[in-house]
Amino acid sequence: MKKKGVLAVVSGFSGAGKGTLMKALLQAHPDQYALSISATTRLPRAGEEHGREYFFVSREEFEGMIREGALIEHACYVGNYYGTPRDYVSEQMESGKDVILEIEIQGALKVKERFPDALLLFVTPPSAAELENRLRGRGTESDEVVCSRLKRAVEESEYMENYDYILINDNLDTCVREMHELIQAQHLRTGGSREWINRIRQELRCL
Ligand code: ADP
Ligand code: 5GP
Repeated sequence: MKKKGVLAVVSGFSGAGKGTLMKALLQAHPDQYALSISATTRLPRAGEEHGREYFFVSREEFEGMIREGALIEHACYVGNYYGTPRDYVSEQMESGKDVILEIEIQGALKVKERFPDALLLFVTPPSAAELENRLRGRGTESDEVVCSRLKRAVEESEYMENYDYILINDNLDTCVREMHELIQAQHLRTGGSREWINRIRQELRCL
């Protein structure tokens, strides 16, 4: 019997290093993980491509996806819609891959409601000053957007206790290793092993 993949949700303040971590994790374990590509109404940043970082869609298209039930969850973040397409996630999990959703907090909590076995990881930099440095240093947002995202981080910090683990992204390699170990350990949790438990029970009864 093929084991289903783990569903792991990664959230964290904007600028914490989630995208950088995802890239490194997927490079280190290309056959193990599938990163879900979200739909969003925000405009692409320089270097971002439709279908690689996001599916960039109009507000009307996004609202159509909501109506058709094509999204597992969706949320509004600093003025734009973001959502997780349903089909890709279920296909990849069925094929045994561990699927990572890099999404914000409202979406993460909805995923936990719908998929109680999902693993919730929260990424933070070692300090607030380092967060501001990283967000400004990335140079992809205007001053106004940086300020909105830092304000949003204050609100998000209230929800950190809802996550299973907090990962401090100080040294990138250490953080990637910890993330990998936590996701792999999730395979061994009893919740995710219900099918196996039922099978061995059945087999024992038939001895
Ligand atoms: P997020 O996806 O969480 O918004 P990014 O991955 O875009 O964040 O990272 C924000 C900035 O911080 C980028 O310029 C990235 O190179 C840098 N960064 C990420 N991780 C680290 C780290 N461990 N140490 C120093 N800088 C980092
Ligand atoms: P960014 O604009 O920096 O790419 O993303 C902004 C925020 O939206 C980040 O916190 C990111 O994790 C989150 N996000 C990206 N995709 C999704 C999604 O599909 N659903 C939800 N709820 N949040 C998402």
